[in-house]
Amino acid sequence: MFILLLMNNSVHYCFSYQRRKHEGKITYVKSDELSERERNNLRNKWKAASRGYRERKKMEKAMLDLTPQSIENTLPDPAGVEAVEGQQESPGGGVVVDAPPQNEDFHPQMSSTPEREDREKKAEKRFKRLQAEKHELRKLNIHLRKQLAKMRKEKERARKSEMRAKERLRHIERGKPKGGKKLAKERKLAVVSFLTRDENSRLLPGKKDTITKNKIKEQRRILTKPLTELHVLDNSEMKKSLHLSYRQFARRRPFYVTEPKAKDRDTCACRDHENVHLLANKLYSRGLLKTKSISELLVMIVCDPKNKDCMDRVCAKCCFEEVEFPETESSSEVTWEQWKRVTSTNGERMFGNMVKQIYNGTIKELMELFSQKLESLAIHQFNWLHQAEQFR
Ligand SMILES: [Zn+2]
Ligand SMILES: [Zn+2]
Repeated sequence: MFILLLMNNSVHYCFSYQRRKHEGKITYVKSDELSERERNNLRNKWKAASRGYRERKKMEKAMLDLTPQSIENTLPDPAGVEAVEGQQESPGGGVVVDAPPQNEDFHPQMSSTPEREDREKKAEKRFKRLQAEKHELRKLNIHLRKQLAKMRKEKERARKSEMRAKERLRHIERGKPKGGKKLAKERKLAVVSFLTRDENSRLLPGKKDTITKNKIKEQRRILTKPLTELHVLDNSEMKKSLHLSYRQFARRRPFYVTEPKAKDRDTCACRDHENVHLLANKLYSRGLLKTKSISELLVMIVCDPKNKDCMDRVCAKCCFEEVEFPETESSSEVTWEQWKRVTSTNGERMFGNMVKQIYNGTIKELMELFSQKLESLAIHQFNWLHQAEQFR
């Protein structure tokens, strides 16, 4: 019976590798895919495994050698025969049955005398004792193996958790500036899009109204309200994560969006201003005006451009004043341009576009149109100047 047990174990040991291989649990790795270190590690592992295998083999052989043939032969269990057959099939394992006994006390070729019986009994006892020892050792071995496996598992778990912790840390470190950058970009974009809205800054129309920074040339925009006021407005409409202090807000202002300069103050680019400019330019080019500047032209018709009543054209002293033109052929034909708002439809949608239109008329008509437009521009100019002054 014990032989069967032994055999089974032996078969189990030598077949476990083959079995695992057959089941595809052993992955084949080419040696040149591994580093020198990994190869060495593997080699050491193999060495240890085959050493263990050889030792087990040796032990089994020794145990079998100890087995008195008489017992083996007298065993009624047919499994014994089976086991011997199995033994011969086991790869790598030598045929053990015929091996000479290594125990000196053991002499199987003995005549059947009482002395022999006594010796047989002794041998049997000894065998049983050894068997028991072996059993104990095996138990110990199994126990130690289990403990080793447990320790290895724990070590592996610790290593993995350490790796996970490191990975998490790395992720956090990597994530931090990334998320921060993203938010910073979002904040900057929010400020830029807020300040470049037409209600908050006005695009200057002139060809010379550009500003260059780091070789980037941009058309200038000027703020329509003080930056402090815009900062409050910005925070009131932005979501909480995009809220900024005034300093942060001011720092994110695009370089081409500035507070109006002194000279910007009389270059309001609204349609009314532009239309007066167009008329003034026409008259100036014909030599009918000495200046193209709207503020200079307004000075001609008011007592004081800083006085609201004068600019509102309700001052009794100046409300009838008009720009004086020199004598000229007032009936000659002339063309001029004016901006006009034109609505066009594209299917269901309506578009309002500013279009420069050409008009025809006499010089007299042009002069009258100019006077009328300059007059109505006065109060707008006053408001505009007043507003611009807040930026100083
Ligand atoms: Zn204007
Ligand atoms: Zn006046």
